[in-house]
Amino acid sequence: MPLARRRHARAATVLVLLAACLALPSCQKSPPSRTEFALGTVCTVNLYGKGSVKDYDAAFSRLREIEATMSASLETSDIGRINAAAGKEAVKAKPDTVKVLSFALETARASSGAFDPTVGPVVRLWGIGTDDERVPATAEIENALVLVNHERVALDAVSGLVYLEDAGMRLDLGAIAKGFAADEVAGILRERGISRAIIDLGGNILCMGTKAPGVPWSIGIRNPEISHGEPVLSIQASDCSVVTSGVYERYFEKDGKRYHHIIDPKTGRPSDGEVLSVTIIARESMTADALSTAAFVLGRKRGLALVATYPGAEAIFIDRDKRVFASDGIRKELKLLDPSYTLADWPEPTR
Ligand code: AMP
Ligand code: MG
Repeated sequence: MPLARRRHARAATVLVLLAACLALPSCQKSPPSRTEFALGTVCTVNLYGKGSVKDYDAAFSRLREIEATMSASLETSDIGRINAAAGKEAVKAKPDTVKVLSFALETARASSGAFDPTVGPVVRLWGIGTDDERVPATAEIENALVLVNHERVALDAVSGLVYLEDAGMRLDLGAIAKGFAADEVAGILRERGISRAIIDLGGNILCMGTKAPGVPWSIGIRNPEISHGEPVLSIQASDCSVVTSGVYERYFEKDGKRYHHIIDPKTGRPSDGEVLSVTIIARESMTADALSTAAFVLGRKRGLALVATYPGAEAIFIDRDKRVFASDGIRKELKLLDPSYTLADWPEPTR
């Protein structure tokens, strides 16, 4: 995944009432939350009720391990080695990489390539979030697009061997690795006896347990039109992950036009539809992360159809007309905070 040297407006979702919760007596046993830069973004882990410095250490050491394994910008990572060997030889990858890549390829197939972990050559060309960001020439985009094809990844899950069939291909797991990392941190914390925590990896949120017995967490979804915008709505959530892909997360502007970081693999350009952000709520953060990117590229109707095939997953789309479209299972948990937004009647009733 690209390590952004400049962070434009990452942090897709914001926690509402977090400060209030810290003030609760039951929250005072844990040391304060910890924030560090990892996986190309700002990561915060907040343990509630129970937890120690060692628990935080364990969480962040796992994040660093995943970064060292999956960063596309590190030559020594699995992804760096696989990319360097594209068109030459297969590379043995760690079980973590095999798991994430397998799910990435599955999502690529399920989304007809709207999500594609081989989008790396195009991502590199645009350089969004790096010092080299620019609008590439059409010919450059066309040349890079030839190398984007998830069907040209040979993965043997048993041996762990990964081979990119064409020289110049590049894997990029930036749309899914943070989700995997959040699940892993939650697993480690659970093993250490922690049942209530918020794991926030650049806005990729995983809530463990509830805020208090019988009281869910309240999670804010940001205004997608403004960097660091206020939440326009909040949802009630417990024991699940809430992940947003949006136009405001990482972008640059040139000649009055905004170029964001989610690429449509069909065009090689930032995906340019009516939707400004997609939030997915799912039990597993890796699922929510992959689906949020896929649904963003697919758009509202096709995106919802994809999400509907994942049991328990819910979706919220916000479009350019300030309309909020929420799938049936999350509508009742949703509270509009900004009166300029409207909750649209959706999905359209079937006759
Ligand atoms: P996310 O913020 O989870 O939607 O992921 C966006 C990141 O994933 C980008 O910064 C790229 O590194 C990568 N990416 C961009 N477009 C795609 C795509 N269509 N499929 C898979 N990964 C993508
Ligand atoms: Mg994603």
